[in-house]
Amino acid sequence: MSIFSGLENIVKENCPLAGFTWYGLGGNADFLICPQNTEQLKAVVLRCRENEVPLRVLGFGSNLLVSDEGVRGAVLKLDSDEFCNFEFSGNTLVAGAGVNLNKMVLDSVRKGLSGLEALTGIPGSVGGAVRMNAGGSFGDIGSSIQSITVMDKLGNIFEKEKPELVFDYRWVNITAPVILKATIELAESDPDAMLKTVKEVWIYKKNSQPLNTKNAGCIFKNPRGISAGALIDRAGLKGTQMGAAVVSEKHANFITTEKGCTSSDIQKLIELIQTKVRDTFDVELELELEIW
Ligand SMILES: Cc1cc2nc3c(=O)[nH]c(=O)nc-3n(C[C@H](O)[C@H](O)[C@H](O)COP(=O)(O)OP(=O)(O)OC[C@H]3O[C@@H](n4cnc5c(N)ncnc54)[C@H](O)[C@@H]3O)c2cc1C
Repeated sequence: MSIFSGLENIVKENCPLAGFTWYGLGGNADFLICPQNTEQLKAVVLRCRENEVPLRVLGFGSNLLVSDEGVRGAVLKLDSDEFCNFEFSGNTLVAGAGVNLNKMVLDSVRKGLSGLEALTGIPGSVGGAVRMNAGGSFGDIGSSIQSITVMDKLGNIFEKEKPELVFDYRWVNITAPVILKATIELAESDPDAMLKTVKEVWIYKKNSQPLNTKNAGCIFKNPRGISAGALIDRAGLKGTQMGAAVVSEKHANFITTEKGCTSSDIQKLIELIQTKVRDTFDVELELELEIW
């Protein structure tokens, strides 16, 4: 524990991560660290740098597969009050990285502020949504964001604003390891009309995704605008099973799990899908899912 001496109350050694992810799979992190405030976060970031300990930030684990061997180094979780607040000021919303995205979407709609309805039904934290530029055919979070506050490897905090801040498909140009908060610009609108949109997006998701299963959303990015799910389906892979990992019958870009599944089962199924799609269509499927 000497690396984090003085911070023992926020550091868990050899901590299982499975319970922090939507797949509920994978091994332990050398250190799971939950800073209570920005000062402690800075201390942790600096200790990691001084001791060459790799640092990762965990959101709600809805786009993650933790390998069976677990994660070397430190995993940060920003779940204390300081990181989980969001506040409206006129049409501007400032949200901490640990805020629940779905709760924030619904609160904005209730306030008659439009811009986030497209994110309905996407599980995760604000930090994870920013890092992934979460979204889909209805829009993405990047379109409503005005600026992001981050902490770099030296513990410095700074803000990155548009147009320097650039979002693309499941991508943002942030290199700092920790996203602290997002400033979001919304527009006044009719709450009833927005609620209707929220319901439509929700029904679309419910009808097209295997929501009552353990999964991590889409496994692959859509290559050059082609639907990865359609390619996997046309390669005849729906229902294909590796160990206890299965290509969903409802949406071929989802991998669901059966009892006894391991992270290694999912990784082997991912490789099989990539090989089959490459051989059939000469297309490389790139991961949207992050594997630790
Ligand atoms: C049923 C289901 C449906 C889904 N549908 C969609 C969809 O329609 N569209 C979509 O885009 N995604 C979708 N996803 C994937 C996932 O919900 C999103 O990618 C989400 O934004 C991930 O947020 P998270 O907080 O869970 O991040 P995590 O999965 O915990 O982490 C994802 C990445 O973000 C980084 N990260 C998290 N927090 C921070 C932070 N504070 N600072 C720096 N980096 C951070 C992590 O290090 C990691 O690189 C779906 C997932 C599920 C399970």
